[in-house]
Amino acid sequence: MFARRTLITASVALAATLAACSPAPQNSGVSTPDASTPPATQSATTSASASPTTSSSAVTTPSSNESGTPTANASGTASTSASGSESAQPSAQTQPEQGTNHIASAKAYAYPAKDVHDWLLNGKESPTYPKGKKIVFITMDDGPNTSTTARNLDTFKKAGVHATFYNVGLSLGNPKVQELMKRQYAEGHAVAVHSNSHDYSFLYPGRHCNPANVAKDFDALNAKMKNILGPGWSSNTFRYPGGHMSWKDMAPCDAVLAKKGVYWLDWNAGTNDAVPKRSQPKNPETMMQAVMQTAGDKNVVVLLSHDANGKEMTVKTMPKIIDYFKSKGYEFGIIGG
Ligand SMILES: [Zn+2]
Repeated sequence: MFARRTLITASVALAATLAACSPAPQNSGVSTPDASTPPATQSATTSASASPTTSSSAVTTPSSNESGTPTANASGTASTSASGSESAQPSAQTQPEQGTNHIASAKAYAYPAKDVHDWLLNGKESPTYPKGKKIVFITMDDGPNTSTTARNLDTFKKAGVHATFYNVGLSLGNPKVQELMKRQYAEGHAVAVHSNSHDYSFLYPGRHCNPANVAKDFDALNAKMKNILGPGWSSNTFRYPGGHMSWKDMAPCDAVLAKKGVYWLDWNAGTNDAVPKRSQPKNPETMMQAVMQTAGDKNVVVLLSHDANGKEMTVKTMPKIIDYFKSKGYEFGIIGG
C-alpha cells in the first residue's frame, strides 16, 4: 500500500514537472500554464497555479499514423475495394473493431486502457507490466484541427507507426475536422475522448474536480464522436484536461468515470510543447532533449504531445521522435479500449 502510494506520488511529481497540457504546480519551476495553448477556444482562465497536494520529491519514477487516403469506413460507410465490385463492404482492414476506439487492423498493437492505466500508476508492480520489451504510446492531445492533424497523420503513416489521439469537441461541427477524425480512425490510430469543452473553470471550479460536469463533458464528446465515427466506435479511455495530477478532489470524478468503465490516463514523458511558451522547445534538438530526458529508459513510455494549432515544433520534430524510439527498440502501441 505504501509502495503504491509512493509510486503514485512519484508519478505525480514527475508528471507535474512535465506540465505539458497542464497548469503547472506552484514551486515546480515550471510556473504558469500556457493559457494560449490550443484548443483556441480553451478557457483563458486557466492560468491559476496548480497545487498538487503531493510533495515535489522523488524522481524515482514508476518505471514503471497520407493525405488523399480514403476517409471512408470510419462511419461504417464502405469504400469499394475494387472497381466493378458490386459489394460495398468495408475492407477487413478498416472495419471497426466493435466496441473499441480503433479499427480491426489496429488490434495487433492496441493495449487495453485498463492495463496502461495500471502501468502508469504501479509500474513494475503491476501484474501485467510488460517485461522484456519496450512500448511507447505517443499520445496527441487537443485535436483534430485543419492545421496540424493532416501533417501529423502523414508523419505517422510514412513511419508506419500509430498514436492515440485524445480529441476535443469544440471544432467537431466543422465537416473538414470531422473528416480528419475519420482519417485518424481509418488509418489505425486510437481515437479517444479528451474533453468536449476543455474548460478548466467548468471541469474544475475553484480547482476542485466537479464530477457532474466531468460526466457531462465526457458524455457530450462521446456522443459527438460516436455520431461521426459510427456506432461501432467506443472508447473507455479518457484524459483529464490539464492532467489528473493538477487538480484537487479527483476521487469523485474518478468514481464517475469508473462507473462508466472508463480509465483515465496521464503520462510519464513529454515533448514539453504545452509548457509556458518561454519554456517550450525552440528547435527540434531541444524538444528531443525533453523527450529523451523524460522517457529515460522506461519500459513503458506514455508520451504527452499535442496535435493543436500552433504546435509547429511538434509537427517538425515528430519524425525524429519516432526515429528515436525505433532506434531504442520500442514497439509503438496505442491505448485501446
Ligand atoms: Zn488538452
